[in-house]
Amino acid sequence: MSVIRGTQPRKGEVRKMLVQCCVCKKIRKGKRWVDITSPLSACCHISHGYCPVCAEAAFAELHASLSGVKSASPAA
Ligand SMILES: [Zn+2]
Repeated sequence: MSVIRGTQPRKGEVRKMLVQCCVCKKIRKGKRWVDITSPLSACCHISHGYCPVCAEAAFAELHASLSGVKSASPAA
């Protein structure tokens, strides 16, 4: 079963890499997730993932769907 993967910053990547939650749109700053208050700079690379809160919700949803639907078709 594939689960949500963390983002692995590549060595040598010196440009700013932002991680944005694809659900609540929060941005990771260090170990915290904060709401974005200003438009994101276009120069930044944005990687989408899940913040801990949304990851938990996504897992719960996944578990619910897995237990409810036995023959789930793989997502395209
Ligand atoms: Zn989130």
